[in-house]
Amino acid sequence: MTYRITLLPGDGIGPEITAVARAVLEHVAALEGFRIEFATCAFGGASIDEFGEPLTEATLKTCQASDAIFLGAVGGPKWDRADARPEAGLLALRKALGVYANLRPAAVHPALAGKSPLRPDLVAGTDVLIVRELTGGIYFGTRERSADSASDKCTYSRGEIERVARIAFEQARLRRGKLTSVDKANVLETSRLWRDVVTEMGARDFPDIELDHMYVDAAAMHMLRAPASFDVIVTENMFGDILSDEASMLPGSIGLLGSASLGENKPGLFEPIHGSAPDIAGQDKANPFGAIEAVAQLLESLGETAAAGRIRDAINTMHEAGEWTGDLGGSLSCSQAGVKLVERLEAEA
Ligand code: ATP
Ligand code: MG
Repeated sequence: MTYRITLLPGDGIGPEITAVARAVLEHVAALEGFRIEFATCAFGGASIDEFGEPLTEATLKTCQASDAIFLGAVGGPKWDRADARPEAGLLALRKALGVYANLRPAAVHPALAGKSPLRPDLVAGTDVLIVRELTGGIYFGTRERSADSASDKCTYSRGEIERVARIAFEQARLRRGKLTSVDKANVLETSRLWRDVVTEMGARDFPDIELDHMYVDAAAMHMLRAPASFDVIVTENMFGDILSDEASMLPGSIGLLGSASLGENKPGLFEPIHGSAPDIAGQDKANPFGAIEAVAQLLESLGETAAAGRIRDAINTMHEAGEWTGDLGGSLSCSQAGVKLVERLEAEA
């Protein structure tokens, strides 16, 4: 089996972390006996520098022809002028791929409980997956503005809710069988439709999944009071934006987490959740685990679950041994962390 993967290193620490993640990916491929063909393209600021735009037609074609897309990070102060923004390339890519579901897992490893801003006994056992609707809702509604008033319209259709809810139910089935749907159905009409559609789908297609509903304000509190009680959360775009950033703080470093953006058809887009971190770029200091976690998600989406499991086991072994980059109080550089991880993969093979 050969997979075609488009690699978009991007800007800032993007090239450093994707180089490490690529080496890890090549190693597990060899261990599991599949092949990967990489196509590397400039993207974001790097593409503005080379081609004058953040996403070229050629890069988009390459992405669309691949089985998965792996992205480092985009942006930085160098491109903070108005005419060509690296971030516009990312929005255009997501739109062209039609990725309507964003999956962000946040798990707290026991060895890292002390690094969390919450008390270790509160975060212990936390392993939550937030499934956020990514292409609808208030972020994509019509906006109006006059001198003294403004409005943003929030719309959801049954179909938009069903397709993201289905992904969330399926993820719950692969995990601990529990789904929490988050809305504001005591106030918003879109939330009432959301709740109806999720409830109907659960009863009809996923009777084995334990489904509950929570208002977004209660969910935000609960995320701090009892984060370990969540399995999978599904929610609309803006609520998911806020809740997933809240959850991303629990594991102790923004450098640990990956995300997957999925649509109806392949390819999905996989990236660490952090930005390009211009303050540490080029210093070989970044934590590559978030990018490597995104690689594990990429492999899962390809059905290579054993390869993903090998990666997560090796990361866990490093956590247990306290083998960390500086953001977690360790002494490894980005590239050293990658070399160690590959050693762990070999040792555990
Ligand atoms: P964006 O706007 O692109 O989402 P940002 O500018 O808000 O991102 P980041 O680029 O994620 O934020 O950086 C926020 C802080 O976290 C910075 O101090 C950065 O150095 C740090 N950081 C981000 N990613 C990593 C990483 N992989 N390893 C270590 N530190 C990181
Ligand atoms: Mg930024």
